Amino acid sequence: MGDYFERIVDVEVGADEAAASAALMVDWMVSRGWLTRESSGAAMYSRQVAEGYVPGADWGQIAHDWGADWVPGPVAVVAGRAAHHPGQGETEPSAAKCPGCGDTAVVIDYPNRWEADPAVWQPFSIAIDTWRQTGDATVTCRTCAAPSQVTAWSFADGFALGALAFDFWGWPPLTESFVAEFATRLGHRIVHHSGKF
Ligand SMILES: [Zn+2]
Repeated sequence: MGDYFERIVDVEVGADEAAASAALMVDWMVSRGWLTRESSGAAMYSRQVAEGYVPGADWGQIAHDWGADWVPGPVAVVAGRAAHHPGQGETEPSAAKCPGCGDTAVVIDYPNRWEADPAVWQPFSIAIDTWRQTGDATVTCRTCAAPSQVTAWSFADGFALGALAFDFWGWPPLTESFVAEFATRLGHRIVHHSGKF
């Protein structure tokens, strides 16, 4: 058990498809014995949901071996548009890359600064709020002056905007082959990160 998580975010699925996609993924993981249909809220701290799926008997097939005594926590399924932060807390990503020109907007100028530059981050922050409500918001690049959907920007540090996420609480590191198969089944680009409550 632990208060850390490993998270896979689908950064392309639409909010209207997220629940159906989540059900298919859970069916698949249950059919393999990696999860059960039983739910629990023990040892998990996802902000958006109170309970997750309890690991199945064969969960060890998809994670590294931390010894026979290890008991991982539930897997929370978060459906709905959300900003997913890696690490601990809700630190902004240190940079965002424009999908048009590829130029990078520096949000936090490490190591000179440890906080987001409000002038740089504010347009993203506003767009993220709008996107969460409507699914549609753009940010205009300071370099090429082109507006792009906020979800099309590439964020540093594993920060992800997505309508579907899976939080594995207290699991040993997931295997690369599992994460790859997971992404293939989702059929979308994923962001994979870890963090701590
Ligand atoms: Zn640009």
